Amino acid sequence: MRSDGSDSPEHARLTFDLDVDIAVIGAGLAGLTVALEAARLGASVAVLEGRHVGWNASGHQLGTVMPGYGLSIADLIARIGIEDTRELWALSKQGVEYVRGLATEQLMPGIAPSEGALELSNVDAGDRLIARLQLLGEDFDTEVEGWQVERVRAEIKTDRYFHGVYYPKAFQIDGRKYVHGLAALARRAGARIFEDTPVVSIDPSGIRKRIVTPSARLRASQIVLAGNVHLGAPAHRLSETLLPVWRYAAVTAPLGERLADAISFKGSVSDTDGIDHFRIVEGDRLMWASPETTWAARPDRFAGAIQRRIRTIFPQLGRVEIAETWSGAIGQTVHGMPQIGQLRRGLWVASGFGRHGLNTSAMAGQLIARSILSGDERWRLFSPFELVWAGGMTGRVAGFTIGMWERASAATAGALARYRERARAREGIREARLAAANRQAGTRPPPSRQPPGRHHPQGSTAPAPAKSEGGDAS
Ligand SMILES: Cc1cc2nc3c(=O)[nH]c(=O)nc-3n(C[C@H](O)[C@H](O)[C@H](O)COP(=O)(O)OP(=O)(O)OC[C@H]3O[C@@H](n4cnc5c(N)ncnc54)[C@H](O)[C@@H]3O)c2cc1C
Repeated sequence: MRSDGSDSPEHARLTFDLDVDIAVIGAGLAGLTVALEAARLGASVAVLEGRHVGWNASGHQLGTVMPGYGLSIADLIARIGIEDTRELWALSKQGVEYVRGLATEQLMPGIAPSEGALELSNVDAGDRLIARLQLLGEDFDTEVEGWQVERVRAEIKTDRYFHGVYYPKAFQIDGRKYVHGLAALARRAGARIFEDTPVVSIDPSGIRKRIVTPSARLRASQIVLAGNVHLGAPAHRLSETLLPVWRYAAVTAPLGERLADAISFKGSVSDTDGIDHFRIVEGDRLMWASPETTWAARPDRFAGAIQRRIRTIFPQLGRVEIAETWSGAIGQTVHGMPQIGQLRRGLWVASGFGRHGLNTSAMAGQLIARSILSGDERWRLFSPFELVWAGGMTGRVAGFTIGMWERASAATAGALARYRERARAREGIREARLAAANRQAGTRPPPSRQPPGRHHPQGSTAPAPAKSEGGDAS
């Protein structure tokens, strides 16, 4: 076994000319899934990887596998209607099940699957939670549980989060092991993977398409572009439809008992604004992803930012030591949906998976392999999401500014929600004192007043005022 987790010294550079049915550019999650599925269906497959398996985002993700896309269901419905949204959502769930089927200890030793993920709200919006639960559970046939504030805070001890949606069928795995496990399975199925083999140009015209690498040429009937934001020269215009976003992550040194005191939930936790994403690993370490930039920077420069983020959410942990940092570039499309489909006869694209890459790349790999080899046309559901120019350098600056603005407004909304919660608690205590005084004096309590910000729509089951805020009220 190599230090990067792969089990193959044979992922050598391509040094001889080759003829195959399908050439895949990029050995990330997307390219390797296409390769595995196509090889299983009997095609001859070569994967050309410029660096090494899992070099970018695919080898640096946190391993949370959940249904869905970067675009919310509500936005999807607005864009393509409820019926097509249902089909897309069902595909995203199939992607989850595909990963579940492969990520077993038997097929991928050490993959360490564990169940359940929690999506938490930074603001006190119980009515929105109810609507979301109904949509997911009833209209989109997805197993979800709504967690009220008390339940959330019993497991995640911070006043930063309010309600939550718990996905019992979501799960997490060792993300690095998964990408190398995929490579091993693809090779076992007959695919050939060549590392250190950047594709410098392609000629997709004609029945047999041509691919040029520094030391060899390839001919293939089908080419799958799965190079994400680093694709570069072979398809510049395609690369320009993706905004590269570097996301930084870290794992802490062992934190001992204090971590279990702060977090008893064992699955992945993320917030609805996409700011923080974390979970406990190896019993008492915290793995955390948060800061983002639209340019590449050294991950160790973000250790302090992640440390501060952890301290903001869990001040009771005190100063935590960061043991390792890393990053990967995700490809963000303008519309938020992945790029899956056929660009011209025999030329395919699978990229733009954003932060939601495990289930969606699994789905894309299956769809493309099956379309090429058995005529499955479901990739056409992605046709409404065309390739839209991401704005080049200006787009990167705009993307960064918008990202900062979104984070800042999410932080402001969170601060406001916590302020309202404290005000409610103070109000509650005052009313209780007043009632007690009235009881002692033998007078009737005054008509109860509606504290600020507590107008709940009929039928909503918004939580009672938090009980733990007594300290603030004194
Ligand atoms: C910190 C972090 C945490 C994340 N956590 C999660 C998570 O928990 N759950 C989740 O679902 N998603 C997560 N993601 C997102 C997920 O990792 C990505 O969406 C996914 O890995 C994208 O896979 P890909 O195959 O499209 O791209 P990549 O991983 O970028 O792979 C593309 C490959 O193509 C190669 N390549 C490019 N151009 C060429 C060329 N011309 N010739 C040859 N090779 C080329 C590159 O070297 C690269 O190896 C996370 C991402 C990051 C960065």
